[in-house]
Amino acid sequence: MRKPKVVILGAGYGGLMTAVTMQKLVGVNDVEIVLVNKNDYHYETTWLHEASAGTLHHDRVRYEIRDVIDRNKVEFIQDTAVEIKKEEKKVILENGEVDYDYLVVALGGEPETFGIKGLKEYAFGIVNVNSSRQLREHLEYQFATYNMEEEKKEERLSIVVGGAGFTGIEFLGELTNRIPELCHEYDVDFNKVKITCVEAAPTILPGFDEDLVQYAVSQLERKGVEFLIGTAIKECTSVGIIAGKKDEEPIEIKAATVVWAAGIRGNSIIEKSGFEAMRGRVKVQTDLRVPGQDNIFIIGDSSLFINEEINRPYPPTAQIAMQQGQCCARNLAALIKGKTDLEVFKPNIKGTVCSLGEDDAIGVVYGKKLRGGKASLMKKVVDNRSLFMIGGASLMLKKGKFKVF
Ligand code: FAD
Repeated sequence: MRKPKVVILGAGYGGLMTAVTMQKLVGVNDVEIVLVNKNDYHYETTWLHEASAGTLHHDRVRYEIRDVIDRNKVEFIQDTAVEIKKEEKKVILENGEVDYDYLVVALGGEPETFGIKGLKEYAFGIVNVNSSRQLREHLEYQFATYNMEEEKKEERLSIVVGGAGFTGIEFLGELTNRIPELCHEYDVDFNKVKITCVEAAPTILPGFDEDLVQYAVSQLERKGVEFLIGTAIKECTSVGIIAGKKDEEPIEIKAATVVWAAGIRGNSIIEKSGFEAMRGRVKVQTDLRVPGQDNIFIIGDSSLFINEEINRPYPPTAQIAMQQGQCCARNLAALIKGKTDLEVFKPNIKGTVCSLGEDDAIGVVYGKKLRGGKASLMKKVVDNRSLFMIGGASLMLKKGKFKVF
């Protein structure tokens, strides 16, 4: 009898977790598992702000997919998914196609630019290893060039970060640690550097505990960040941004570096493949399947999972993507064994920690508020735990963060 074939698209937190959980739950004779990812490596998306600021080498944030999967059970295809043909049960790849009985879509998200003019053309994103390398090298180039030019261009040392959510704040934390090093390396006066964080919402880190937010703001301000809250970026240009508060005249901020960190939407393949979606994210059933598509699961940043208590979607996080990966694998194993009663996904939110640089952070873990060194230590525990969950102790020891202050 032909074995059912499970195809997992994306080897990020959700997809890789599905693969490594499934390889433990099902035998090689029961199922064929195929994992498709555009690179032969997995990257820790939650560490990309470090690679982008240049405080962590980009090779530290990635590892080989083949090193963590059981190659007897999971076939890995390095390719880019282009479109899902639901009726034909196949996925079109850049270099071929793959058919499936069950499909897991775990392709992550893409920056949401809300149609703001010029962002796609001129702003940097913290999206993957290559975008992080590009941003880090661009920053270095600005400092190096500033020093070499006879006529000094102050905007080379002006950096705008759009968005004061998780990604923006974590990046600012790393950036403010990196700037003194860059000034030292390129003989630039620290006082000439200008870092502006522009946020359209009335607060930074919406949803976070207010005391902790205050702490984060004062720490970052102390290191030179100016916050423009309740201020929307209206346009990004080749020389900076145009931004303004409601009912006020927009201002121009000249900056050679604009980083857009203010929003995420689902992978564009979702809409291209005809799934009903909101900002590219599919509202999935409680068993993580797509309504009306019993053989397709969507997890991670490309899915919307509703928190029934507040009737709003859970925020897109690695924590949820990994838990969904585990639940999805158990549900696939159940389907393969002929069961129809699938597990309901229940997120187990242990807490949230937002880093403010290598040595500082804020967080709420198991209901307890943390700040400073303790929160930073907890952040490292969280980072190491995710490595352990996917690749066990060996991966954690190879890639983990163990520098304690
Ligand atoms: P991803 O982990 O992004 O993986 C998607 C995978 O799909 C990638 O390997 C990608 O290469 C691959 N892929 C994409 N398109 C294709 C294609 N067409 N074909 C083949 N492969 C493709 N969350 C937290 O919980 N805690 C944090 O502290 C935290 N910090 C963050 C900091 C930053 C700077 C950022 C950017 C995000 C942070 N997040 C954090 C959010 C978290 O990273 C995401 O929610 C998480 O990565 C989502 O997991 P995923 O599996 O859906 O997608």
